[in-house]
Amino acid sequence: MIKKIRSYLDDPDLDVQYKSFILLSIIALIGLFLGLVGGIVINQSILANLSLVVEFSLFAGIFFYSVWLNKLRFAMVFISTFLVFVFLPISFFTSGGAAGGTPVWFMFATLYILMVLSGKTKAFYLAAESLIIVVCWVVGFYHPELIIEFTRPEAFIDSMLTLFIVGTVMAILINYQTVLFRRENERVRRQKTQIESLNRSQNLFFSAMSHEIRTPINSILGLNEVILRQEDASDEIIKDAASIQSAGRLLLSLINDLLDISKIEAGKMDIVPVDYEIADIISDIAGMVSPRVNEKGLAFNVSAAHDIPSVLFGDEVRIRQIVINLLNNSVKYTHEGSVNLKVRSENTGIDSINLIISVSDTGIGIRKEALPDLFDAYRRVDQEKNRNIEGTGLGLSIVKQLIDLMGGEITVDSIYGSGSTFTVCLPQKISDPRPLGDFSVNTSLSLKERDGHLFTAAGANVLIVDDNEMNLAVETRLLAGTGLVTDTAMSGADALKMTKKKHYDVILMDHLMPVMSGIECLSAIRSQEDGLNTDVPVVVLTANADGENRELYKKSGFDGYLVKPVTGKQLEEMLMKHIPAKKLGRPGTAVIPEDAGSGESFKTILRLFCRSIPQKSSELEEFYASKDWENYTIKIHALKSSAKIVGAHELSEMAQKLEDAGKKGDADYIREHHEEMIRTYRELASMAAPPSGVQKKRVMVIDDDELYSGIIRQWIKDMCSVEIFTDGMKGVEWLAENRADLILLDYMMPKVNGPEILEILRSNPDTASIPVYFLTGVETKESLAPIMSLKPQGCILKSTSRGDLRKIIEDALA
Ligand code: ADP
Repeated sequence: MIKKIRSYLDDPDLDVQYKSFILLSIIALIGLFLGLVGGIVINQSILANLSLVVEFSLFAGIFFYSVWLNKLRFAMVFISTFLVFVFLPISFFTSGGAAGGTPVWFMFATLYILMVLSGKTKAFYLAAESLIIVVCWVVGFYHPELIIEFTRPEAFIDSMLTLFIVGTVMAILINYQTVLFRRENERVRRQKTQIESLNRSQNLFFSAMSHEIRTPINSILGLNEVILRQEDASDEIIKDAASIQSAGRLLLSLINDLLDISKIEAGKMDIVPVDYEIADIISDIAGMVSPRVNEKGLAFNVSAAHDIPSVLFGDEVRIRQIVINLLNNSVKYTHEGSVNLKVRSENTGIDSINLIISVSDTGIGIRKEALPDLFDAYRRVDQEKNRNIEGTGLGLSIVKQLIDLMGGEITVDSIYGSGSTFTVCLPQKISDPRPLGDFSVNTSLSLKERDGHLFTAAGANVLIVDDNEMNLAVETRLLAGTGLVTDTAMSGADALKMTKKKHYDVILMDHLMPVMSGIECLSAIRSQEDGLNTDVPVVVLTANADGENRELYKKSGFDGYLVKPVTGKQLEEMLMKHIPAKKLGRPGTAVIPEDAGSGESFKTILRLFCRSIPQKSSELEEFYASKDWENYTIKIHALKSSAKIVGAHELSEMAQKLEDAGKKGDADYIREHHEEMIRTYRELASMAAPPSGVQKKRVMVIDDDELYSGIIRQWIKDMCSVEIFTDGMKGVEWLAENRADLILLDYMMPKVNGPEILEILRSNPDTASIPVYFLTGVETKESLAPIMSLKPQGCILKSTSRGDLRKIIEDALA
């Protein structure tokens, strides 16, 4: 029993009420016992002693029984009843009434009830005790004969004993309470530190994981977009790729939402105000959302009040996030009708406004009962109806918390079954009070416009710096169809070598790289002696553009930032801002001949065009110098067409005007514009063969795993030119008209496998002497034996590192 009582008192999870009950009961029992002993010693009346014996036994019986059976709550109420209705009145009348020790026991009972009971029960017993006190005192006053009076020594001893007992009880109790309080405080403090450190590690885990997860998703989405852009891909492939895209994007948005929520909860979500143009935000958002709206066959109405100040100061990125989230929800939960975005402003001071953005739809609406919980995290309302609609229930919670952080408000009006309107009010500062004026956005982009390239830029050079070769492969391939020349560097040091050799129009720089970060590399480029790119725009590519980083990028001098995974469109939009206008052409206006449908044939045409530049430009110079306007006009006519074919539109337009002038005999116009045209023409020459002028060696990779061939290309493309074939027979056909210095041949391939291709190559005298290395996934020497028995020049394991592979290729090409 003692063990059981101790376990109760030591249990940190047991409510303090129960502990007080046990302690008080034990002390009360000791008190009663001492009272009984005292009564016997002072020779108290038999009735008084008998009543004490009965009270003690009853109290002890109930207490130990309830502890034994774990029925503390029952005992608490029972003993309170016993104290108030039995012990106190009996004690009052048998122990000297108001002159005895009972009044002190009444105080003890009050304390007992206060500490042990709670709620209505407590109120009832306190009221009952007060009533009993009044009754005892009144009856005792009018009928003193009912009270068994004490003799003088009895009264003294009884009151002394009672005071002593109850005083000790209270002292112990208060002391115990203080100890409990201290212990509890200590426990809460320890728990708080534990929770804080847990929270910190959880946040660290979240941000590390999100970075780790975003990197591979970046590759998946990027390569998938490359597939989506392939004109010759079958419908089935496009359908599968579209599914990958939507699943990948969902996964990404989930990770971003989780990261946002964990940041907000850790108080680490910073609001970073900057100057921004309201027109940009509205048209960008409309451009992003309209494809989804169009896809669902909904109408999309965007309007903005003409008096909104054109430039505001606020956290542009978070405002975009809020509006996109609300619009995406509207699209998600609307099956027919329209989605509407309205923006207006209300003046709140000379340099401040409330920006009011309302997003409404004619969708499924939200039940009235669900509205109060709408902004709770992980809360999805109307689950039954929405179970087929993807979502996590995090979006609106993030929206609400971001708005709170910005000091704004969000309200929602909804009629179930008819639609919803979310209205956001954000206080913003005015940076330029000139009104926005008439504003319209095109919300009906066709699918074709969306999926094609935004520009062509034959002659423009872009350097991409990233330590992750998959990222390099993705970005290079996303831009492949624009005619841009993309060079890649896998480290800051490599990038610095390249910026000394060649001028680029834009540099895309990863932020987090080992040894030299993107920021360090940027500052080295800016201050590079003999550098050709000291003032070239550099855009940072980052997996994490939160408030802190955005500030950092701005301060470090980057000309823009893109958040990974970047889509082809985002990449192209950013490049369009920075590539000189004269190098940009409109997409689709390049007349690519029928047979130039594939990227490879177009590249061949482009190469031919570029290689002919030195000769053709000299011819033009000669006719210009000898004022032979007739031949000059013939040559310039040819240039007009060929420039158009490769998408060099500015050059083509210049040539067109010079041709017109030539036909009219306007020599002055030709003199005025010839030089500019020649300069533009010669700038395109950088697209020709390698800058060193040395014919590059050509390595052919035949592997059905396009991803692996893509990686090889990234690893070795600065050493040689690389031709990739997924189908061995296509490679053999290509060799009929082209040359290769080395062939890397996958051993295991569907349809025609590696050994068969090797046999075909060896049976043809033109290709028999080309060294062939087998590519294989096998790892053991024994499994290599059958491969080596075919006597290839060598064998490369697919697990070979970049450095080793480069060494093998270097030796093989030497
Ligand atoms: P989810 O990822 O589920 O969309 P949100 O936090 O964005 O999470 O939204 C919470 C819930 O609010 C949704 O599950 C949906 O039931 C409801 N909801 C949000 N926006 C709309 C809307 N425009 N129309 C109807 N219901 C909406």
